[in-house]
Amino acid sequence: MDVRRTAVVKLAVSDEQRDALHRTAEQYLYCANRTADYCWSDTSYAECKTNKREVRDALYAELREETNLQAQLVQAAIKRAVEAVKACVERWKKGQRVSQPTFTAETMDYDTRSATFYRNKVSLATVEGRVEPSFVLPADSPTPYERYVLSEDYEFRESTLRYDAATDEFYLNISTRRTDGDDEVSEDTGHSDQTVLGIDLGVNSLAVSSTGTFWQGDDYDHWCREFEKRRGEMQQRGTQAAHNALLRLGKREEAWRKQYIHTIANELVSEAVEHDCDVIAFEDLSDIRERLPQAKWHHVWAFRRLFEYVSYKAPEQGVSVEQVEPNHTSQRCSRTDCGFTHDGNRHDEQFECQKCGYEVNADYNAAKNIGVRYARKRQHKLRSSPKSGSGDAQVDVRVNGGTLNGESHQPIAGD
Ligand SMILES: [Zn+2]
Repeated sequence: MDVRRTAVVKLAVSDEQRDALHRTAEQYLYCANRTADYCWSDTSYAECKTNKREVRDALYAELREETNLQAQLVQAAIKRAVEAVKACVERWKKGQRVSQPTFTAETMDYDTRSATFYRNKVSLATVEGRVEPSFVLPADSPTPYERYVLSEDYEFRESTLRYDAATDEFYLNISTRRTDGDDEVSEDTGHSDQTVLGIDLGVNSLAVSSTGTFWQGDDYDHWCREFEKRRGEMQQRGTQAAHNALLRLGKREEAWRKQYIHTIANELVSEAVEHDCDVIAFEDLSDIRERLPQAKWHHVWAFRRLFEYVSYKAPEQGVSVEQVEPNHTSQRCSRTDCGFTHDGNRHDEQFECQKCGYEVNADYNAAKNIGVRYARKRQHKLRSSPKSGSGDAQVDVRVNGGTLNGESHQPIAGD
């Protein structure tokens, strides 16, 4: 068994430390993007380079030369980029649409060589030497930090420093691993216990998680309509000047929409990390237009971008992204002891089970079902895998206020 925990800790940084961290992040992202450039091939996935050691041998000396980064940070940036390329290649092999990963979010991976933890502060390597910001710990005790990071039962593994532009704060996501127990812990990704976060994408709310967080997207809809109105006005004028203004508006609008979806993608990944989830499950989006006829083009655009952004941001935090078959996730009752599936269960934004009477927000119900569907699929796969021991694996769905086990559910129609 491999129990990993993540604690999220806010850092109190001085202006000087802040500058040093931003400059470090800039060079770190440079290394990651250079590596992705080197590894990627648009021609075929067979030509993408995914061997970490080979890539490191090819790039390490050069990147050390070009930056002021400490050795481990250069290696971490290379590793992150190779892992992202690898994840893309896996999706490409399955026939999914992929493009070269790019790194823009200010996040950096630290390990025991580049970060040292003390009770109240952390020492981090930067391009300006070590900085030692202190922790901002909440008053209620024990904090996850005390429970997992300072506990002797847990061993510090690695941490990710994340700059949150929305709040202008730096956070450390510290991941630890339980050291007790007699099981040998393997280094690979062979840990079979998983916790999944289900995500429903829709028109009423842009995204809803199985933990009950809603990303409504009201302002997204509002601004898309405003942009549309402005476009209509300019098109009517028909002059060259209006035409140029239209092009500029188009660029501004696209930049704005991308930024908006990036923010939600970051929050979705944080939601998974904060709830100790290993997997984020989405519905397959292939025939989303048929399934959601009321969706406007800007909704469909948002769903695809959101999935794409989460797919490359989540692996940076050790969270994988999966898709499940979408059939009946909106019509099925997500209550553990029910699972009744019927067209009449759903009335627009409200779900009311015709059998057990369970009443809940329809998108939240769907998000739980998406998580459950992934959990069932995964558990089934583990049961039938020849690898001994993995049949006992737990796959849980993180829901508002607890977890659901995929097993205790009635089958979803169509499984
Ligand atoms: Zn029911």
